[in-house]
Amino acid sequence: MSAYKIEEHTYDVVVVGAGGAGLRATLGMAEQGLKTACVTKVFPTRSHTVAAQGGIAASLSNMGPDHWQWHMYDTVKGSDWLGDTDAMEYLAREAPKAVYELEHYGVPFSRTEDGRIYQRPFGGHTTEFGEGPPVQRTCAAADRTGHAMLHTLYGQSVKQKAEFFIEYFATDLIMSEDGVCQGVLAWKLDDGTLHLFSAKMVVLATGGYGRAYFSATSAHTCTGDGNGMIARAGLPLQDMEFVQFHPTGIYGAGCLITEGARGEGGYLTNAEGERFMERYAPHYKDLAPRDYVSRCMTMEIREGRGVGDGKDHIHLHLNHLPPETLKLRLPGISESARVFAGVDVNKEPIPVLPTVHYNMGGIPTNYWGEVLNADAENPDRVAPGLMAVGEAACASVHGANRLGSNSLIDLVVFGRAAAIRAGQVVDPKAPNPVLNKASVDKALERFDNFRNFNGAVPTADLRLDMQKAMQADAAVFRTDKTLAEGCGKMQEIAGRMGDLKVTDRSLIWNSDLMETLELDNLMPCALTTITGAEARKESRGAHAHEDYPDRDDATWRKHTLAWVDGATVRLDYRPVHTDPLTPESEGGISLKKIAPAERKF
Ligand SMILES: Cc1cc2nc3c(=O)[nH]c(=O)nc-3n(C[C@H](O)[C@H](O)[C@H](O)COP(=O)(O)OP(=O)(O)OC[C@H]3O[C@@H](n4cnc5c(N)ncnc54)[C@H](O)[C@@H]3O)c2cc1C
Repeated sequence: MSAYKIEEHTYDVVVVGAGGAGLRATLGMAEQGLKTACVTKVFPTRSHTVAAQGGIAASLSNMGPDHWQWHMYDTVKGSDWLGDTDAMEYLAREAPKAVYELEHYGVPFSRTEDGRIYQRPFGGHTTEFGEGPPVQRTCAAADRTGHAMLHTLYGQSVKQKAEFFIEYFATDLIMSEDGVCQGVLAWKLDDGTLHLFSAKMVVLATGGYGRAYFSATSAHTCTGDGNGMIARAGLPLQDMEFVQFHPTGIYGAGCLITEGARGEGGYLTNAEGERFMERYAPHYKDLAPRDYVSRCMTMEIREGRGVGDGKDHIHLHLNHLPPETLKLRLPGISESARVFAGVDVNKEPIPVLPTVHYNMGGIPTNYWGEVLNADAENPDRVAPGLMAVGEAACASVHGANRLGSNSLIDLVVFGRAAAIRAGQVVDPKAPNPVLNKASVDKALERFDNFRNFNGAVPTADLRLDMQKAMQADAAVFRTDKTLAEGCGKMQEIAGRMGDLKVTDRSLIWNSDLMETLELDNLMPCALTTITGAEARKESRGAHAHEDYPDRDDATWRKHTLAWVDGATVRLDYRPVHTDPLTPESEGGISLKKIAPAERKF
């Protein structure tokens, strides 16, 4: 492998990813006095977090009464009782602190008349443990909340002297013989050099894998790279079958129209002009949780009440709202609707369709962000030297379904928690590990192999086959038949990885090679998603199985663990954490309140 120019770097902590999660972790690590590097394949403020529109949930009570216990209850119910209760408590309890920190760092939140942070209603967020009216809990910077967060966190990280390695593509984890993570290998995209980072803690904050599907609201860079690295390191992925479809992707283009649009009073209609959500969810109507709204929309379309020539989509109305509201609260989506659907939101409805939006599953962690090398016998075993935060991780606070605006808060609460934990377990004075040569060689060999792939299948063709198979067989509606067929298709598709053709052999701005490495990360994501879905014989949250329409807590209230070897997936399960962190006697939520119940809206 001497053909490659390799530079070595030594840090206490290397964070891979510079989205909201990666930047909040990077900032926190640097504040802890740890020598911190952040490695990112795109410029930090171009990470997918930049596209987050609606906002970030925290029970600040700026617009009416609210409590973290109510937020926790909504998160537990939203997760369809698959989330880990300790992590969900941590999220809801720490959320206000994390948002005030963002405010003090300089995030330009929208304001109320009296100068407080503006909060809007979002689906699934309620008062009085689901008994009261919807709550305004989602803090917003107009409809550009993620954008505001990234710019602020990047500036603060630079101020804290965190070092950025921008447009470096991390390819693999370096692991010791006994399973300790020691660092990462990365490829510098603009000059073709390779970089070996040695670290006492590696934090994966690489985002989701929406691009395993054909229609997704996420950026083309959301390719599950961290998940791929974990799978190749022989560690499990968790709950991958739970993929959230957002009810309102723009028909055709897939771009997102935020749930904030319905929060501000928008509503959906079918071909008969009927506000059908009133029928399915008499109480919360268009603001029922996303999995439910997506399913109702799909039902309307399947029953022939879709709009348009193909009767294959739904209308979202904002045209009844005052033009000033649209201009003030929803300027970005008014523009998206004009550019991507040719619609003037003041006059016409927007054509929308449920579109892949979020991955609830990912790299299993505890609520400190430490990665779990879990199996049935060792459900909470920590993988040393390794953390994961953000959409790449599965803490698990979203369980089977994430509530809107609960991801941005997940990024900052757990980015912050990981930094606090690293402050406790990483010793800045200790020497760095000597990198395991066998693991370094393996990573280099894989890179070299990919660069020289000389088979018959162009990367773009195989990727399209994967995306079509996932869209057809692992989408909103799932049956035994479609899932079994999908598993077969995906195994066949993954089996063709060895026959890929990479035409560009150069090392500089080689997008052909980069997309091939990304495809190799998407493949285990797709395989574990469809295999986990095929095995789970119940309906829960985003996993709606037509042959098993009910949730089955006795058998299935457990996390799926999935290991990948080539095109083969092995499954195991670990129990859900059902105990909160704070006992009721000390102000915690009552166990009775969060006992599994039917989800009704
Ligand atoms: C259109 C849209 C709107 C949304 N709106 C909201 C909202 O209003 N509220 C809410 O709570 N949630 C929202 N979500 C969800 C939320 O925005 C995401 O879940 C979240 O931003 C993910 O953040 P992240 O930090 O985990 O990853 P990302 O922001 O996706 O960042 C990933 C980072 O990892 C880096 N990376 C990846 N692979 C590699 C590699 N191999 N080497 C080096 N670097 C790598 C990238 O460069 C990037 O910096 C929205 C999502 C979308 C798609």
